[in-house]
Amino acid sequence: MTDTSRLDDKIIPPPELMSAWEAIPEIVKLGDPVLRTRAESVTRILTSDTQKLIEHMKVIMRKANGLGLAAPQVGVSKRVIVYEIDDQIHVLVNPIISGGRGEQLEPMEGCLSIPNLHGVVKRFQEIKIKGQDHRGRPVAKKVIDLEARVIQHEVDHLDGILFIDRAESASLVWAMPGRNGDDEEVDEPAFRE
Ligand SMILES: [Zn+2]
Repeated sequence: MTDTSRLDDKIIPPPELMSAWEAIPEIVKLGDPVLRTRAESVTRILTSDTQKLIEHMKVIMRKANGLGLAAPQVGVSKRVIVYEIDDQIHVLVNPIISGGRGEQLEPMEGCLSIPNLHGVVKRFQEIKIKGQDHRGRPVAKKVIDLEARVIQHEVDHLDGILFIDRAESASLVWAMPGRNGDDEEVDEPAFRE
């Protein structure tokens, strides 16, 4: 693994994007050490603390119009992720990925903690995921395509890994605000998580 603090220092958003970086203060942004810290396992899921964390993450993910969110992104170093696929929100606690197969290069990735930066990241096309749901019930399933990509991105967050560590560096690009207001000009619908 490269020296990630030096990599983080190199990622400097253009001044035009500062408002995007400040738009949702509940989300921790690049440079905060919690994003580079390995998160702790959750031992008690049915406590009010954990339940409140999960609900908070769902609200913030929706507010940010993101596809996924990991607890360190709201400043909590615990192994919890949420993501939304086909209008359904999924919660995974203590997720473990195994059996990665194949590869996918699209769509470009983004991250709610590094607003408006996008890049090409090679991910497994298929993975097996194990963990627990929001009620502590065991989850074990095979997932593919976009769901597999989102989970790989979010589980990386739990290990202090960001998509910029894995992206082809030449592919990293800022999506700049459009001329007619807040709309961004993005070539393809990169997703944010
Ligand atoms: Zn992210």
